[in-house]
Amino acid sequence: MEIDLNIPFINLYGQYLSIKNEIDQAITEVIRKSAYIGGQHREKFERDFANYLGVRHCIGVANGTDALTICLKVLGIGQGDEVITVANTFIATAEAITNAGAKVVFVDNDPDYYVIDPDEIEKKVTNKTKAIIPVHLHGHPADIDRILEIAHKYNIFIIEDSAQAHGAEFRGKKVGTLGTAATFSFYPGKNLGAYGDAGAIVTNDDEFAMKIKMYANHGRVSKYDHEFEGVNSRLDNIQAAVLSVKLKYLDQWNEKRRSIAEYYSRRLSDIKEIVIPKTKSYVKDVYHLYVIKAHRRDELREYLLKNGVATGIHYPIALPNLKAYQYLGHKPDDFPNATKCQSEILSLPIYPELTEENIDKICLLIHEFYRS
Ligand SMILES: *Cc1c(COP(=O)(O)O)cnc(C)c1O
Repeated sequence: MEIDLNIPFINLYGQYLSIKNEIDQAITEVIRKSAYIGGQHREKFERDFANYLGVRHCIGVANGTDALTICLKVLGIGQGDEVITVANTFIATAEAITNAGAKVVFVDNDPDYYVIDPDEIEKKVTNKTKAIIPVHLHGHPADIDRILEIAHKYNIFIIEDSAQAHGAEFRGKKVGTLGTAATFSFYPGKNLGAYGDAGAIVTNDDEFAMKIKMYANHGRVSKYDHEFEGVNSRLDNIQAAVLSVKLKYLDQWNEKRRSIAEYYSRRLSDIKEIVIPKTKSYVKDVYHLYVIKAHRRDELREYLLKNGVATGIHYPIALPNLKAYQYLGHKPDDFPNATKCQSEILSLPIYPELTEENIDKICLLIHEFYRS
């Protein structure tokens, strides 16, 4: 067998092999029962994940984007309303706001931690602001206590977009439990990933949870009794069964990610052309991504690729600078931190299956690049 010396950006097959028996058994069990939508597996995962977070309700939905849209819709947010989110995130966060019918209001990110800059939020609050969607980007919790203060002051909802932060903590509390509600994505590459699309909404509010559950399933009371029109956005049982298996490993995988991040930072801290990721003493980062700032970023990326190391950029174009948001009429200078990030940030491979030799190779290449 040929040995592949390349280091991919993510290694989902390697992860599968490490838990193959349990996964195969879980999937086989769903097929044997042939109950693919609704029922036991989905309910089990919803219960497991709610217990893991320490929250009253978890409602599985089809993906993380739907999770956000459904939250906004069920909160009654739409036409004429404004929702604040961060300039540097995946488009899904902003898309959900537009798809709910509301207006996206961008706030710049903090230059060091890449999450929404709390100092900038209040300037964007108007009498139309109905919600703030902070994103725990790269697995790093946003400054939720500052954001909650603003939310209380103006009586607006907080929906934590926790798609990149399963298991992350803010002052000893899991993210996803701190606002009105929170959304998760289980896209395969996330810290907790399914074998296809999947997502969830979590909340402590009983009535809100019930409405979400109905809305995501055609406004159903029972099979053919519908209280209102909703959508079809359900977590299926194969995904739920896979997620229940993987949830048991989440803490240990996150721990591995943290130790890889530490190792990277130790090895890279002496390179003056690089800024290693910062983390705060009162948060527990889950390093969905390990993001450095690099001088001559594109050349470095090319050099790594040429030597078999895949990297990513999260994200190469800040949302307000995308063609999709041209209609808002922003200039790149309106979001100086997000715009500056675009050309500096680089995501290095980080996943539990990454070996010390892999990291050594990557760090050596980076050292080599800046020496030459
Ligand atoms: C992945 C992601 C989403 C969307 O999740 P999907 O399951 O792909 O729809 C939303 N927000 C952020 C920050 C994400 O990283």
